[in-house]
Amino acid sequence: MQVSKYFHDLFLSGRLFLPLQNYDPMTHAFKDILRKQDLDREEIKVLLSAEGTQFQELLQRGREVKFSHLDNYVHLRGLIEFGNVCEKNCLYCGLRSGNARVERYCLSDEEVLSCARLAHELGYGSVAMQSGERSDPAFIERITRLVREIKRIDGGSLGVTLSLGEQTEETYRQWFEAGAHRYLLRIESSSEELYYRIHPRNEKHSFRNRVECLERLKRTGYQTGTGVMVGLPFQTVDHLAADLLFFKRMEVAMVGLGPYIPHPDTPLYRFKDIIPPAKERMDMTLRMIAVTRMMMPGINMVAATANQTLDPQGREKAIAAGANVIMPNLTPEAYRESYFIYPDKACVKDMPDQCKSCLDIRLAAIGHKILYNAWGDVIP
Ligand code: SAM
Ligand code: SF4
Repeated sequence: MQVSKYFHDLFLSGRLFLPLQNYDPMTHAFKDILRKQDLDREEIKVLLSAEGTQFQELLQRGREVKFSHLDNYVHLRGLIEFGNVCEKNCLYCGLRSGNARVERYCLSDEEVLSCARLAHELGYGSVAMQSGERSDPAFIERITRLVREIKRIDGGSLGVTLSLGEQTEETYRQWFEAGAHRYLLRIESSSEELYYRIHPRNEKHSFRNRVECLERLKRTGYQTGTGVMVGLPFQTVDHLAADLLFFKRMEVAMVGLGPYIPHPDTPLYRFKDIIPPAKERMDMTLRMIAVTRMMMPGINMVAATANQTLDPQGREKAIAAGANVIMPNLTPEAYRESYFIYPDKACVKDMPDQCKSCLDIRLAAIGHKILYNAWGDVIP
């Protein structure tokens, strides 16, 4: 069994992504674990520690499992970054309410609808509306109206994913009844202790409520998605293994994983020197993608833009390791730089039509193809 030099070095340096003390690589046969679907915590940790040839074998396994369940198709969700006004103050995110340096915006109805029409014209099959978190009645009503309008385009041919944060069950139901059918709410970390290291500890940032929101979404009937950031300060391999078991336990239909990218105008930035280097955050994200695919073969998994931000080939690498969804950005150019979650966001300048042909070529080069004009839901 090849023992990771990286973990060895980290162990000596006391840095992050530390394996647990009772981790014994000799007791696990890597190839046997690779063939399994029901993985326990120790087995997951072995996979998340893979380096060199084993790292490549793991990514290949993620791809094989995906091909055998979902073929080589990639689904698109045209991303509409609806607004950057946020009531919350997450310690890692540039849109946090405490960041006075961000210029706030909200798209007009017409801007949202023209993005949706463009998604339809380009054959994307689905849109995803994402924004800072707001729960005021005007916002809730507006989203309801906009979802209804989007569903009127070509007789309801567009699928609608929402990613608008924590809401009441009534709000989730209202949006579902208007026509939204998928919802993405990352848990960010399934460890309550780590969650409160990256969020303020108050009523607006309650770990319990976040978990409860995922339950509400599932009860309401959404294809529910969750996920975490990889490479957070204080995050260990044990946390990440627990995250994967959380996804499985919650029986989610979608997972979105991406590397954490420090934002200079956020409180978490001061820990930027204790997180793993960009390449390690990227590689760990790829391991997480491959293991998620092994554990949950039929789900939808997003190749997050953050992957491409850390590595120009990051999105393709995520697809090649087991992800099957890409969210090309449809937000009007004038607003893109204000949706400043983290620095150097990839594709900020790409125009939708360029993006489409670029994606076709990039995906064909790694043996994948886009399934146009389809919602791309998970088949139960
Ligand atoms: N407000 C909604 C929410 O939080 O669910 C949706 C928008 S929020 C910007 C979307 C995702 O961005 C979050 O779930 C978080 O994982 C990710 N994000 C925020 N700051 C980040 C950072 N510095 N690096 C990487 N991802 C980040
Ligand atoms: Fe707001 Fe979402 Fe950013 Fe948290 S992650 S500050 S809820 S936009």
